Amino acid sequence: MDVIEKKDAEVKVPNNIILSTVEIALNWCRSRSFWPLSFGLACCAFEMMSASDARYDIARFGSEVFRPSPRQCDLMIVAGTVTKKMEPLVLRLYEQMAEPKYVLAMGSCAISGGPFKDSYSVVPGADTFLPVDVYVPGCPPRPEALLYGILELRKKVIHPKAFAKNYQKRLEQNG
Ligand code: SF4
Repeated sequence: MDVIEKKDAEVKVPNNIILSTVEIALNWCRSRSFWPLSFGLACCAFEMMSASDARYDIARFGSEVFRPSPRQCDLMIVAGTVTKKMEPLVLRLYEQMAEPKYVLAMGSCAISGGPFKDSYSVVPGADTFLPVDVYVPGCPPRPEALLYGILELRKKVIHPKAFAKNYQKRLEQNG
């Protein structure tokens, strides 16, 4: 079989043919249709709900299908304070979600415990027990911030290898 040089390939492949892999196509579809889990933990959840209303219209980004069952979801938005009492339940919901699945930490409480960080009953960040993909800061973050977080998650889903490489580099830099 002839080996085709890269420059020759451009000549030999006719116009109007799109070359890609199934993985890239699937990731593109996933990134445009997140199905978030329908649950909230505290005040940030109201901002999450607002993102679905007519003004912010999360449907523009294909992420309006909030599902009540974790088995039908691929995005967990941790919206609110995670207490130690709730931690095992949130983890169980995450484990019941379908693969591939993503986690977005919404608000200071979900990121680091927020104003309740020093409390005996609050978990200091969802990333202590979940693999968080995107952090949306604020107390509470506005719905626009959540939408921006979803757009950032899109990039991560489409280019998983690039993000894994950056993550590895950061780990090495931080020793
Ligand atoms: S970050 Fe602020 S608004 Fe969000 S749950 Fe915590 S206290 Fe409430």
